[in-house]
Amino acid sequence: MTFHIITLFPEVFGAYFRESIIGKAIKKRLVKIKFYDLKEFSIDKKHRKVDDRVYGGGPGMVLGIEPLVRAINKATARQTGLGGKRQAKIILLSAGGRQFDNKYAQELSKHKDVVLIAGRYEGVDERIKKLYSVEEVSVGPYVLTGGEVPAMVIVDAVSRQIKGVLGKEESIEEKRYGIGVPVYTRPEIFKHKGRNYRVPKVLLSGNHQKIDTWRKKNSKGLNK
Ligand code: SAM
Repeated sequence: MTFHIITLFPEVFGAYFRESIIGKAIKKRLVKIKFYDLKEFSIDKKHRKVDDRVYGGGPGMVLGIEPLVRAINKATARQTGLGGKRQAKIILLSAGGRQFDNKYAQELSKHKDVVLIAGRYEGVDERIKKLYSVEEVSVGPYVLTGGEVPAMVIVDAVSRQIKGVLGKEESIEEKRYGIGVPVYTRPEIFKHKGRNYRVPKVLLSGNHQKIDTWRKKNSKGLNK
């Protein structure tokens, strides 16, 4: 699966994507991440400007339509094909969009190409939604300074749904029990300020049926 990330700041992704599970998934070629630096798609060759003032007045800048269209066309070029039918899923990261969740991550993991457009400043020129079939997606009910962190959230949550990305030790336990199942490791009894903090007995019982029931009962999540 390939993520195509359109951003003004491609350099902020490096450390996160190089490490740990996502880094391994990229090495194993289960996940590919391509960056499209908006500045390279500017029509202003000299200053590489990609934003402009808001029509109607008001503070802040808006990411202009021309660089965005050029970047999206580049990102989707391979999928356009002779028939001109775009196959890639195009997501515009937006605080006001559809709420991203695990179920949606599972759906997205079935796509071969997902384009993530990270906005900045006051957002992107609205007309982009008229030109492409774009889904607006929010990673939470708050406003961040840019779409880069939301893009990382989506790449991470979607990648771990792809077969082979998680090793046995990081398997998708939430598929069996739901999200937020309490977990413990050694020591069996942790002594702190005169008190004993114990691992629940059922988890030490070796009775897998009882452990299953306990985990399902104690999970908090959406997959319940
Ligand atoms: N005034 C804009 C609005 O009401 O949507 C705020 C834009 S925000 C400062 C800049 C960019 O950050 C947005 O275009 C979007 O790409 C991204 N962003 C901010 N919060 C987000 C969220 N909760 N989920 C997804 N993207 C978000």
